[in-house]
Amino acid sequence: MSFRSTVLTLYPEMFPGPLGVSLAGRALSEGSWSLDTVQIRDFAADKHRSVDDTPAGGGAGMVLKPDVLAAALDSVADGRPMLALTPRGKPLSQARVRELAAGEGVILLCGRFEGFDERIFEARDIEPVSVGDYVLSGGELGAMIVLDACVRLLPGVMGAASSGEEESFETGLLEYPHYTRPVDWEGRTIPEVLRSGDHAKIAAWRHAKAVEDTRLRRPDLIERHGGASQAPPSGAQRKK
Ligand code: SAH
Repeated sequence: MSFRSTVLTLYPEMFPGPLGVSLAGRALSEGSWSLDTVQIRDFAADKHRSVDDTPAGGGAGMVLKPDVLAAALDSVADGRPMLALTPRGKPLSQARVRELAAGEGVILLCGRFEGFDERIFEARDIEPVSVGDYVLSGGELGAMIVLDACVRLLPGVMGAASSGEEESFETGLLEYPHYTRPVDWEGRTIPEVLRSGDHAKIAAWRHAKAVEDTRLRRPDLIERHGGASQAPPSGAQRKK
């Protein structure tokens, strides 16, 4: 079973783009996942092949037409989750990424201009997804974010690294900081404990660092996960 992705876009030439290199690219050429693009404009019905029109009620920009979007979606709908990229959506989370990666694949609808006619969300089973609290010029980079996050979790793509439960967000905490050689660099040394070889002490230090950095940088994560995030990972049980 491989993860099948279909991206509906006005700019199919943007794909696979960054997803064609490194881990995702290798996994793509090995068939661990597939990527198809659909040109939304191919579903325009009028002779000008128009995909957008002016906003009802006035205002700047253009809005993607619901009839064209529906025709494009209906041509590929097959039970896979359908996600539309929009800053009005629910923020993408690692938990949702895990669910998607465990499934058959995903259909991604990319907006442009002012975005989608809202009725598409009522007429079809589409999950609005945001990749962050900022505005991009199109949904394509967002779709790449969704796909990249999913693909690295597919079996065999990253090996042991991606199954780790200590990565950022998996525990409700940011991951602990990493270091590598040289031990002494510009007068800064790798923390002593990491060179001690004492695995229990290392695990406890890493957990404490993860908590400290999360408190400083992402107090919202601590808030959201409450006390649960404070439990040290199983490898870090403190000696009594
Ligand atoms: N007028 C819209 C923004 C349109 S930006 C608004 O204020 O909500 C054009 C397209 O870029 C959107 O349709 C969407 O597909 C994509 N996009 C922009 N920012 C995004 C974000 N943070 N997350 C996901 N998609 C985004």
